[in-house]
Amino acid sequence: MDGETIVTISDVLEYLFCPRFTYFMRCLDIPQHEESRFKVLKGRDVHEQKRITNTAYLRKKLGVVGKELNVFIASKRNHIKGIVDEVVFLEDGTAAPFEYKFAEFKDKIFKTYKFQLVLHALMIKENYNVDVKKGFICFTRSNNHIEEVVFTEKDFDKAVEIVGEILEIIDKGFYPGKTNSKNKCFDCCYSNICT
Ligand code: SF4
Repeated sequence: MDGETIVTISDVLEYLFCPRFTYFMRCLDIPQHEESRFKVLKGRDVHEQKRITNTAYLRKKLGVVGKELNVFIASKRNHIKGIVDEVVFLEDGTAAPFEYKFAEFKDKIFKTYKFQLVLHALMIKENYNVDVKKGFICFTRSNNHIEEVVFTEKDFDKAVEIVGEILEIIDKGFYPGKTNSKNKCFDCCYSNICT
């Protein structure tokens, strides 16, 4: 990847929801309607998230020895930028991204959540020069249940690949395939123009 385009974490979440979102938004410059389901969900995350302020609890449960809040982070090498809810530093000398979701935990980690975390991990590695082996998601609607997500090398490779696919669309105007999940098309604001 040699261009100057920088992809945001929001771009990645939209792309993972449906690759054509990226095309309509970034190539044709057609914004989503406010009422679109995806945007509403994102908005809730931002406005209604609740932080865990009990640091003794975090230290005991996860081995956290320090943290930074709302960290703006970017990687020129990987063409990505975003804001990490928390960068936590662990007893074993590694660091980890910690994200809050205004959502219930339903025994699985969605792809969007996972790759947001993996990309944050990539940027933390690069900016703090520290190893990142896992991340955490706190589900505020499940009594602040914290789910640990362990990363593999394949996860990091896949995250870089996803950013590459987004850049293909933005920089080269590649028209991607439709989402595999037809029910996402039901109330999609682009359904009229998406053929
Ligand atoms: S109509 Fe379906 S395939 Fe087209 S942009 Fe919307 S969700 Fe994606």
